Amino acid sequence: MMSYGYKPEWSEGAIKCPIFQTSTFVFRSAEEGKAHFELAYGLREPEKGEQPGLIYSRLNNPDLEILENRLCLWDEAEEAAVFESGMSAISTALFAFLKPGDILLYSNPLYGGTAHFISDVLVGFGVKVVPFHPGEQKAEILDRINKEGGGDRLSMIYVETPANPTNAQIDIAAMSEIAALYSTEDKKVVLAVDNTYMGPLWQHPLKHGADLVLYSATKYIGGHSDVIAGACLGSKELMGTVKTLRTFLGSMAGPWTGWLLMRSLETLKVRMEQQVKNAQKVARFLNEHPSVEKVYYLGLLQPSDGEQYEIYQRQCSAPGAMVSFDVKGGEKEAFAFMNKLKIIKLAVSLGSTESLVQHPATMTHAGVPEEVKQQMNVTHKLVRLSVGVEHVDDLIWDLGQALDGE
Ligand SMILES: *Cc1c(COP(=O)(O)O)cnc(C)c1O
Repeated sequence: MMSYGYKPEWSEGAIKCPIFQTSTFVFRSAEEGKAHFELAYGLREPEKGEQPGLIYSRLNNPDLEILENRLCLWDEAEEAAVFESGMSAISTALFAFLKPGDILLYSNPLYGGTAHFISDVLVGFGVKVVPFHPGEQKAEILDRINKEGGGDRLSMIYVETPANPTNAQIDIAAMSEIAALYSTEDKKVVLAVDNTYMGPLWQHPLKHGADLVLYSATKYIGGHSDVIAGACLGSKELMGTVKTLRTFLGSMAGPWTGWLLMRSLETLKVRMEQQVKNAQKVARFLNEHPSVEKVYYLGLLQPSDGEQYEIYQRQCSAPGAMVSFDVKGGEKEAFAFMNKLKIIKLAVSLGSTESLVQHPATMTHAGVPEEVKQQMNVTHKLVRLSVGVEHVDDLIWDLGQALDGE
């Protein structure tokens, strides 16, 4: 992956791909310019061995193309597209496959920005949106679709699993069966999975039947809390549609963002492996602490947890580095704990080298209706922790001193 898609001889022997900070690319001849545009506009099929040429950085740029080729390796996808934010990847993908009158089925709750985009923007464009909750069975979900006007209007299914912040999971293969059930010869129901929570290492939705996988690359992929970016991956055919819309919305990432993410990708696996190792120890510590009521972590699931345990076994290769837990008491006790932390920073976002803590009920999930919060166990005693790469003894010391109070 580290050297994939780039040859030093292309750039004066530079071992790393340089930043191609350029808006436009010079054609060697008018004929070459014409040929590039013919391929870009799909006016003809490429001849054998003919590659699409560089035209303009809104369409393509070496820092994006090489990064996209490398991202494909992690999820074994045919094509990838990089965006200037996770939200631009998500909104472009949703716009690409939905039109007025269509039904979008989605898991609830979602990342706040996505939830807002669906219930305000898409609804404003005449898309019918139908939420379901993790834990709902296939029959209940089918019932919901039929009540809302039937499967012939279903165009897209959008899922986040494990769900933020409680790690409740959704069976991707079961969702793909629903998509197949309502797909016809001339209309494919597209199943998109936001895989930000597991990064490209611990869960591979395409393998379980998803059509598109989406990332906020701001999180694990970027991994250093210093860049906002997003990605979408899938088959050549679907990504053709996504990339065309990206070109016209202009939501692609810039060369500098591409370069930063290529640099981040080189340490993605070592970072994530350290994070999951730390998270497992932190979760065990919290699980035994007298001031902690309940820990929500995939690594603590037992066979007695039934379906959730089975989905985890099938779908994930590791339990991740997101640990949520109920502090005994309520908001007052949760806030006192967070305010007392010395090493762990009080901030939203996740997946970065440094550990972060936040209070979902009043921060990331402040906009979620109260009854949905209750359903999802997002109460005022719940705290969400994103575990970083620090020495785990330091993290456990910090959590201990903050939980122990005065
Ligand atoms: C952060 C996040 C997003 C949005 O990504 P941005 O890079 O902030 O635009 C989408 N989904 C999930 C699950 C996220 O955590």
